[in-house]
Amino acid sequence: MGVKVPCMITTFERVPLAVVLIGGLALAAGPGAAAAQTCPEPASLTAGLTLPMAAVRYLADDALDGRLAGSAGEQCAGDYIAREFARMGLRPGGEHDTFFQAVPLASAINPHAPAGTGRNVIAILDGADDRLTHEWVVVGAHYDHLGEGAPGSLAPGERAIHNGADDNASGVAAILWTAETLARGPRPARTIVFVAFTGEESGLLGSAHYVAHPASGGDPMVAMINLDMVGRLGAGPLIVYGVGTAEEWTSLVEPAAARAGVAVATRTEGYGPSDHTSFYLKDVPVLHFFTNTHGDYHKPSDDWPKIDTAGLSRVAAMVADVTAAVASTRPALTLRRGAGEPPRPASEPGQGYGAWLGSVPDFTPVDRGVKLSGVTVGSPGATAGLRAGDVVLAIGTHEVTDLQAMTDALRAHKAGDVVDVRVLRGDEMVTLRVTLGDRSTR
Ligand SMILES: [Zn+2]
Repeated sequence: MGVKVPCMITTFERVPLAVVLIGGLALAAGPGAAAAQTCPEPASLTAGLTLPMAAVRYLADDALDGRLAGSAGEQCAGDYIAREFARMGLRPGGEHDTFFQAVPLASAINPHAPAGTGRNVIAILDGADDRLTHEWVVVGAHYDHLGEGAPGSLAPGERAIHNGADDNASGVAAILWTAETLARGPRPARTIVFVAFTGEESGLLGSAHYVAHPASGGDPMVAMINLDMVGRLGAGPLIVYGVGTAEEWTSLVEPAAARAGVAVATRTEGYGPSDHTSFYLKDVPVLHFFTNTHGDYHKPSDDWPKIDTAGLSRVAAMVADVTAAVASTRPALTLRRGAGEPPRPASEPGQGYGAWLGSVPDFTPVDRGVKLSGVTVGSPGATAGLRAGDVVLAIGTHEVTDLQAMTDALRAHKAGDVVDVRVLRGDEMVTLRVTLGDRSTR
């Protein structure tokens, strides 16, 4: 029986595990990273392409085998990112004057984390202002994905390469474009560090390691900008989380969006199922850029031809603009604590996530309830007839006002509980009887 583990963003039901891991990393690294393999020559895949699309095309190629953290395919991805940073003339920010920082992947909390060692890929653009160069702005995106469908896949039973073009080759591509643009100058006042994280899909492992061992050493990190899934802008909007984590964010984000011609939906919360959470937990103001989930999310079909190339370029332009602004605006951002619900640690490994419904939320804000972008095949929700587009309003006696309320409702139940789930389907109110499942055995 395949055992599935919660993995980032799939469902808000899964959010807590990721966050629990931050406080509970086992530091016993397994044996070294994956066996050597011959990586594809970038020019053979990216001929005729420029950033950001060239990076998506390379990272999402089958030869990289889904970039599972610690795997040979992920090593090829990391090598490619490091070579790009070097080509731009950025300074290595990893260990021993390299671009790499080793990250132990084994975890006492997440028994399904890949064994061995992953690598964060880190590059520095030094600030131009002597007084501000010791203040650091972090721009990050995870580059690992699900390999051939390990835990976290939404295509159960199917063993196939999950290329993760949107999740998150797109985010890495956008930070590379940003790095290239800012490295050409004019150079911002503060120092900017670009980080491609490993181990996000297994529970923010790379970013949790980074905040404990930052390239900035004892210098302050004054802002963190995270890109996770920015390749499907389409008709938009671009969702920007975290504007409530600093007083000035909105005044920086909105003009940048207008200049880039991007419609944005801003959200205040600084905690979410991706790497920015690691930084907000350390009192760093954060943003998370996100073009929403879709039917290919965490499936083998998340491929590069489906990327909105023009949209990705506009998002990248906006990110470069916001990054340059926050790196030069004086004074530094004013942190606001308490934007959103902090993740609550589970009492024991494998516990505290509540019962399993199988819903995949649509992250576009709605007036009330939680709109679903999908329902996991074979899940209790799917069996009961829950569908994409449904807006969940209640689970049992728990009213569902937002994602947090839905998380709470599921956490209040256990596997085997039979509950009525009330949803709005178009104009119609529908009640479905669901036998909730066991998250830990799926
Ligand atoms: Zn992701």
